[in-house]
Amino acid sequence: MIGDRTTGRSDRLGSPSSGVLVTGGGSGIGRATALALAEVGRPVAVWDLDGQAAEATAAACAEQYGIAAHWERIDVTDSSALAERVPVVATELGSLGGFVHAAGVAGPMEVDSIDDEMWATTLDVNLRAGAMLAKAAIEPFTKAGPGSAAVLISSIEGLFGSSLLTAYCASKGGVLGVTRSIAQRFGREGFRINAVCPGAVDTPMLAPAFDLLPGFRGRLEERTPLHRVSSPDEIARPIRFLLSDEASFITGTHLTIDGGLTSITAI
Ligand code: NAP
Repeated sequence: MIGDRTTGRSDRLGSPSSGVLVTGGGSGIGRATALALAEVGRPVAVWDLDGQAAEATAAACAEQYGIAAHWERIDVTDSSALAERVPVVATELGSLGGFVHAAGVAGPMEVDSIDDEMWATTLDVNLRAGAMLAKAAIEPFTKAGPGSAAVLISSIEGLFGSSLLTAYCASKGGVLGVTRSIAQRFGREGFRINAVCPGAVDTPMLAPAFDLLPGFRGRLEERTPLHRVSSPDEIARPIRFLLSDEASFITGTHLTIDGGLTSITAI
């Protein structure tokens, strides 16, 4: 635990006062999301495979915004750890009324070179873990109340195909499917779940593609109507909205956040 100052109910941007768990919170979109939630007074628990990075994000949340922030090194593919630790997070934060599954992996893999291990890892981290988190969250969400909500991270690759990203596309398309499925189960309790589909976001995940593919960044920026890639903050703020009471009738759907990239035709 890093900080222990709680802020009480925050009415800022319609955010409830319950705690939120952010997986992959040590880096990129997850880190930006934890900070965005802390900004409106929500206690956060930050999980990541990289414990030091999780600790650094929790420290930044507590120091910058004075909220209670916990961190833990967790491998989200370990379903028994999720079942065991989610209730602990709820106790530590006082309540758990939200989660964001931002832990993710991506690796270039055309169908010619698919191997079982990479397929399994990609699907386990990006897809299975989100569903298992939802399962583990039902009890704490019930205690936190009907405003509880979750966000899963898909991608524009979940809407379209990319030959280099076979397993990644499968996982991100799957995220949209489980979002729709879980929304029906959650809806019975008054909980919501949605997905976001980011385009290109400036995070460590995208950096190797920019390094390995000459001219890729320039072509992407030229093709995108807003002519740039997004910052992690520009994904985090819509996620915060989807977790807030401002989004009280939005569930079982996805929000594309891509600077307009998928709004144009290929010809
Ligand atoms: P990132 O900066 O690489 O952050 C992902 C985090 O997830 C890393 O800290 C990583 O830890 C962690 N992680 C990986 N496997 C894990 C596991 N088994 N258990 C716990 N944590 C794990 O990537 P990002 O760009 O923020 O990606 C966040 C999400 O957005 C992903 O689902 C990604 O697919 C999606 N997304 C990203 C983009 C983009 O352009 N960046 C676009 C669309 C969608 P390690 O670093 O230690 O592995």
